[in-house]
Amino acid sequence: KVFITGATGQLGKSTVNFLLQKGIAANQISALARDEAKATELKSKGIDVKIGNYDDSYSLLAALEGVETMLLISSSEMTKSRAVQHINAIKAAKESGVNHIIYTGFMRTHEDPKSPLWFIAEDHVKTEKYLKESGFTYTLFENGFYLDMLMDFVGEEVLETKTIFVPAGDGKINFVLRNEIAEALANVLTTGGHENKTYNIGSEQPVSFGEIANYISELTGVSIDYVSPEPEVYQQTLLQYGIPEAYARMFTAFSVAFAANTMNIPTSDLTQILGRRPTTVQEYLMSKFKKKI
Ligand code: NDP
Repeated sequence: KVFITGATGQLGKSTVNFLLQKGIAANQISALARDEAKATELKSKGIDVKIGNYDDSYSLLAALEGVETMLLISSSEMTKSRAVQHINAIKAAKESGVNHIIYTGFMRTHEDPKSPLWFIAEDHVKTEKYLKESGFTYTLFENGFYLDMLMDFVGEEVLETKTIFVPAGDGKINFVLRNEIAEALANVLTTGGHENKTYNIGSEQPVSFGEIANYISELTGVSIDYVSPEPEVYQQTLLQYGIPEAYARMFTAFSVAFAANTMNIPTSDLTQILGRRPTTVQEYLMSKFKKKI
């Protein structure tokens, strides 16, 4: 039986759907939900829903009974130590006799606390170290940046503003569609040969915001400038537009990390797992803008 955490979230839900599409019986999939109300859809599909929370080891232990393989989707609770939450899940898995853990981490060039990506990488580095040291068979997905979130940086009104304003300099970023990560997770859950492997999950060609501005210009015929301000100026601008402070800080921190090329890792791992080249940034932008031009 496969056990999936974060199954009420977007990546988890999509992974469950890919497993069902592949013919995996619903009763062979068990899913963790911390909020029963959010699990209605999963239940209606026949998924064996277990109620539990990363903060509550007992609930995890009960949920993991009889499980062989766990897909541990990293927590979304940025105000807590996600490493502590993940390690709770790994400890419970150990006690329950789980054999294989697949974990969704984050793509990174460095594991150095001085890296501008450390604010996000730290929990993943700690989790992965603990997972490896615990003696599990593991598979690590080092996910690129969600392509689904690209327009949050570009701005939905870019054809009117004619400017992309992000302090990412010339840094290249590896973007990946969330649904293609889910499809790859489902492939890994249903095939062998992934034991003790670490995959960079992204495209073969990371891109910069300057290139993105050029793609949009070519696609739409509207000339888009790319402006890379000082990070402080960017953060202040977001605040002036009413973006909540936590988000303004997060967007700025990611942009600074992008500028330092911390997610500039070309990879063919996802191509191999999917059996095709993943969606490119150009293709994604084409689908986004075709309605507008
Ligand atoms: P979502 O926010 O849609 O899903 C997160 C899931 O984690 C939800 O099911 C949520 O439950 C669950 N969760 C959060 N806290 C707890 C907890 N204490 N106990 C049990 N479950 C918990 O994120 P996505 O599915 O889009 O992405 C999956 C993960 O990928 C994120 O959690 C984050 O770690 C990471 N991420 C990666 C990005 C990237 O660019 N690579 C970008 C953004 C996130 P509930 O439904 O109840 O909230």
